[in-house]
Amino acid sequence: MSETVRIGLVLPDVMGTYGDSGNALVLRQRLLMRGIAAEVVSVTLSDPVPESLDLYVLGGAEDSAQRLATKHLARYPGLQNAASRGAPVLAICAAIQVLGNWYETSSGERVDGVSMLDVTTAPQPTRSIGEVVSTPSLAGLTQKLTGFENHRGGTTLGPSATGFARVASGVGNGVGDGQEGVVQGSVIGTYMHGPALARNPELADYLLEKAMGVTLEPLVLEDVEQLRRERL
Ligand code: GLN
Repeated sequence: MSETVRIGLVLPDVMGTYGDSGNALVLRQRLLMRGIAAEVVSVTLSDPVPESLDLYVLGGAEDSAQRLATKHLARYPGLQNAASRGAPVLAICAAIQVLGNWYETSSGERVDGVSMLDVTTAPQPTRSIGEVVSTPSLAGLTQKLTGFENHRGGTTLGPSATGFARVASGVGNGVGDGQEGVVQGSVIGTYMHGPALARNPELADYLLEKAMGVTLEPLVLEDVEQLRRERL
């Protein structure tokens, strides 16, 4: 890794609808506050996807935008290559669907994903909108997770994928198995907007520590803790 931690913000031009680009800013800010150099590298539909970055974040999107993203990621497999060497990837909402095996849009069209996650997604009878609180299943996380969900798709985990967290309130993956999100290798997917990392600093530091291979000094910010208390 170079001295500057390089955070890939993947396709914010199409996967930026729900403010999830804020996750990249949170990662950068938590490093800068510790005196560690960091930069956000924005990768748009005009760019091939680089495989050399330290970690990657992808945000949610509408069905039509997520189709454009799927095409781009299939054409330039930098994200797939980075994940294969263990670079952390955080995929929010539509990004879970795009990184999965296939997803069906609200209009019933089935689109092949890029198969980084062994999941499939199909529209549910009603849209899930509201706060979601969950208990992490991923080793290394101890704090309850909170976010805002807004999705029609329901995601089913295949045998190579495991749940990221168990739903305490809200909907999560939405197929009745009580799971919120998905973990497979170095890829974490979640339905939490927020942005998720602003509301869940333990998850932000988890991703940074995995990317850097170090243990970071604790960084407790009172306004973030206040927000957490309000949402739990
Ligand atoms: N279009 C997808 C769905 O409705 C994802 C929405 C999102 O990213 N919030 O399921």
